[in-house]
Amino acid sequence: MKHRLKIWLRVALAHVFHLTGLRGLFRSRRAGIPVLMFHNVGYPAETDYLPGHMKIGEPKLRRLLKHLARAGYRTRTMDQTVDDLAAPVPPADTVALTFDDGYRDNHDILLPMLREFDATATVYVQTGPMKGKLNWLHHYFWVLHKVGPHALAELLAEQIDRPHLRADLAKLSSDETQAEYDMKRLLKYEITAEDRERILATIFEAQGGDDATLARSVYLDADDCRALDKAGVELGAHTVNHLILSGLEPNQQRLEIEGSLRDLEAWLEHPIPSFAYPYGRSWDYDDTTREILVELGFRSSVTAMTGLNDASTPALDLKRIAVNQDSRLAEVLCEVDGVFAWLSRRGLDLRV
Ligand SMILES: [Zn+2]
Repeated sequence: MKHRLKIWLRVALAHVFHLTGLRGLFRSRRAGIPVLMFHNVGYPAETDYLPGHMKIGEPKLRRLLKHLARAGYRTRTMDQTVDDLAAPVPPADTVALTFDDGYRDNHDILLPMLREFDATATVYVQTGPMKGKLNWLHHYFWVLHKVGPHALAELLAEQIDRPHLRADLAKLSSDETQAEYDMKRLLKYEITAEDRERILATIFEAQGGDDATLARSVYLDADDCRALDKAGVELGAHTVNHLILSGLEPNQQRLEIEGSLRDLEAWLEHPIPSFAYPYGRSWDYDDTTREILVELGFRSSVTAMTGLNDASTPALDLKRIAVNQDSRLAEVLCEVDGVFAWLSRRGLDLRV
């Protein structure tokens, strides 16, 4: 089926099933447990520089939680979800909520909302920023937001010594979105990780950026983590520096994973059973990553791959459904009810 037709049909069916209430009929036949994936909640000014696909507004998230509560869904942490998946008959009325990276809005905006709905969630925390260190991507987004893609390309060209890359930067498209895409690809794949970190940090500082100030305004700190933990929200590990694990030597992978685990254990004074892979596509982690997670005693790890989870889904490759401000509620709710999974078992694959 052509992609556009598939999307059109998916949206149309989602609205029909949602508006008629028919989607509820699929629940008892639900063949898997949904795990929803979010990042930032609300639009606090200090997160202006972060891209829109990571954000969901407070009213939209409240509407989603209201729908789930009205339909009788129970929200679950990932640690609870691992138990649910092991049950002889997995529950048809659960949904796990997960929030990646450890943004401060998860404490300031999300936590009161979870309390309002008597809901819970898992927040995956990257611990480097909590100790004042931001990675290259934050530096990149921050400078991009401040000066725009073409001025950033000029700043990069001053720092990069290879002539062919400078030539590429000089002839970026006049279209800002395209220029941004090409520039990010160049940074990701054409220069080494060390150069990338160093160059972006240099530009960030030259533009007046300060790691400690930005990190504190955007990320949770240890006290916020303890407050979430006390309120029944699970905190999971998400590495120290949010690097692509499969690109690291085994000992570096271990430092990244174990570092975030030990930080959280020290702050919360109890074991941390849940992990989320940075970036989360199947090529962003490998067997070495899984071995390290097993050795460290993690019970589960979530990816950014789409789908529901059942007893046959490996606990270290759990799937999620990404939700942001652009998501249509009807589609998200149909995913949670298992509508699209049911249709695909009957030969109509509208999963994206
Ligand atoms: Zn992340």
